[in-house]
Formats: sequence, structure tokens, C-alpha cells
Amino acid sequence: MPDQEFHRVYLSPPHLSPRERELLLEAFDSNWIAPLGPHVDALEKEFAQKVGAAEAVALSSGTAALHLAMLATGVAPGDDVLTSTLTFAATANAITYVGARPCFIDSNRATWNLDPELLAEELDERASAGKLPKAVVAVDLYGQCCDFEPIRESCQRHGVVLIEDAAEALGATYHGRSAGTLGQIGCFSFNGNKIITASSGGMFVSDRRDWVQKARHLATQARDPAVHYEHSQIGYNYRMSNLLAAIARGQLGVLEERVAQRRANFAYYQEALGDLPGIEFMPEPPTGCATRWLTCLTIDPARFGATREDVRLALEAQNIESRPVWKPMHLQPVFTDLPIRGGTVAEDLFARGLCLPSGSSLTEEDRRRVIDIVRSLAKRSAV
Ligand SMILES: *Cc1c(COP(=O)(O)O)cnc(C)c1O
Repeated sequence: MPDQEFHRVYLSPPHLSPRERELLLEAFDSNWIAPLGPHVDALEKEFAQKVGAAEAVALSSGTAALHLAMLATGVAPGDDVLTSTLTFAATANAITYVGARPCFIDSNRATWNLDPELLAEELDERASAGKLPKAVVAVDLYGQCCDFEPIRESCQRHGVVLIEDAAEALGATYHGRSAGTLGQIGCFSFNGNKIITASSGGMFVSDRRDWVQKARHLATQARDPAVHYEHSQIGYNYRMSNLLAAIARGQLGVLEERVAQRRANFAYYQEALGDLPGIEFMPEPPTGCATRWLTCLTIDPARFGATREDVRLALEAQNIESRPVWKPMHLQPVFTDLPIRGGTVAEDLFARGLCLPSGSSLTEEDRRRVIDIVRSLAKRSAV
């Protein structure tokens, strides 16, 4: 059978249900076709309650949430902000939007996220030199929380603001607390590839009401209270549309199901591929529960018999989308001049890491196609 006859299997496609459609049509029919509206207000309340934050601000994107986190906490031109090198560019981009400089920290093996020991070293050295950063942005990659206890401890000791980029980790927990509430501000995304989506959108959460107020104000063109339009600051058009908020509300209602489905994908792959030499799955430390937003693994070519790229291309030839693990920020042409502490762990994860199709609507047949291809590339003696 020619390959084209297979439908394409995507990495992480949107997964919506009739409830989202109903809510969207309800919003449409109510004529609240605007940024803001009853669904936005309801979504903010429901979201804050779901993750256990005092307040939430619904926004046009996760990147907008990160930008507002910089502005709300007063990160300014010339400031340094420490962040994970292994992340999506939006994290580092948002730091540059306010004229600050991203300074990168390597991952650790236990979480693939920001290494708490390297962070502590960096902060201690900078404290001695009188060069503390304004903030730390810790990123929860692929549905897994950073090891926040030591990270929080270091930040508190030095009085540095801790922001959590939880764009990939909605639904994950750390010591029973929700991703996005482990720093002083949490940023989420409802982009099309995330665990739940509204096609686009983001959320800013915090227990600091002053920061929440500031974020909401700046996101609404910084309009001062007056019937005429009065402005005493530069603002942004970052609020979420009422139509998208309707979709997001429906999606939020099925979050637990989506987490269970993503975790089931992971368990299936691990069971079916875990015996192959040179294959290692992204670990899940006992400190929390990951969502397995994406199932990620590393491939040791010497032991497995093929490289990560061989596997990716073999999947692509069968119309299956997979992706390398994020390319670290310190290797990106746009950021090569910026400081990096460590870097070899993230470089290794990038060189050998692969994200397998992980959608919550992935079928048994799709998963079987994936594992058959991966197994066919393993060393003969291993199969
Ligand atoms: C998706 C993502 C973002 C950005 O979210 P958008 O809603 O696409 O702007 C930020 N950080 C990380 C780690 C992400 O994966």
C-alpha cells in the first residue's frame, strides 16, 4: 500500500468535543464577539479555581502572559533574567521585549528542566559580585514541573522574583500543587498544540493582586478609568476574545481526561519500546505527576543502531510527525552571544531526544504504526 494512503499522524493536534462547539455557538449567538465578555470572566474564575491561584487573567497568548510577567514585576532595560536554555523561544523572547537580557541555565537529568544546583551557584556568584538578576523564569517542559523546592529556596534567599512558564504543563502537579502556582506568577498557553487549546490564548495567574491588576490593565491598552480614553502608560492589546474563552471553558472541563489520555500514550510507548537498547524515556521524579504532554525519549545510536534523525525520517516517510527535543536557546543564532551556565545536558537532550506523536485523540492503530517503525530500526539482535 503506498504511504500516502495512511492518514497523517500529528505530533499534538487539537482535540475538541461537542461541548466546546456548543459553548462557541452560544457565544456567537449572544453577539459577544469581542475581547472580554461573560465567557472571559467565567474562564478566569474557573481557571484560577482549577489551578489554585488567587486570580487569573485571560490573554491572547502564552507569550503575552510572559511579557506581562516581565512588566508586572518591573523587569527593565539592562536587567538580567535567568531562564532555562532548554525551552521554546517564546520564553527568552519575552525577556527581550522589555529590554532585559536572558541568561541561560542548563537542564538536569532528573527532570530535563532548570538545574536547581546550577541556579544556586549562579545566584550565589552573582550575589557576591553584586549582579543579581531581576527574575528567574523556570520552564516546565513537556508537561513536567521543575524541581521547585530548591529553586524557590534559592530565589527567596536572594530576593529574586520567580516566574513559572507552565505553557506546556497545565494539569501537572508538584508535591500536590498545580503547575503554574509554584512561582510567584504562572504563565499558560492555549495554543493549538497544547494539552487543551482555544486555537490560541494564554493565562496569567498570581496570588499577588497588585501584579494581577497591573497585568490586566496593561493587557487592556492601559486604559485609565475615565469615559474618554485616558492613558498614563503604554499598553498592549493582549486580552482574550470571548469566542475563544468559550472554547477554552469547554476544554478546561475535560483537562483531567486529556491528562489521562496523554499519560496512557506514554505508558503504551514505554511498554512497547522500553526493552530496546539505547532507548530512554524522559524520567518522572517522585516529586510530582507529569501530564506527558509529549512523550519524549532519547536514543543512543551506538546501542540502538540508528540515530534520532534516522528514526524521525523513517516516521516522516510513513506520514508520521515527530520532532527533535527543543534546540537549546544558547545554540540559537539569535542568542549565541548570551551567557550560559553549563549547557552539555541540554545539548545532549537536543542531539538525541525525540518527541513522539502524543495527541489525546491518538488511536491504538496510530500508536502501533509508530512503534512498528521504531522497532524496525533497532539493532537486529534486539528485536
Ligand atoms: C507554547 C509555549 C509558549 C508560548 O505560548 P503561545 O500561546 O504559543 O504564545 C511559551 N513557552 C513555552 C515553553 C511554550 O511551549
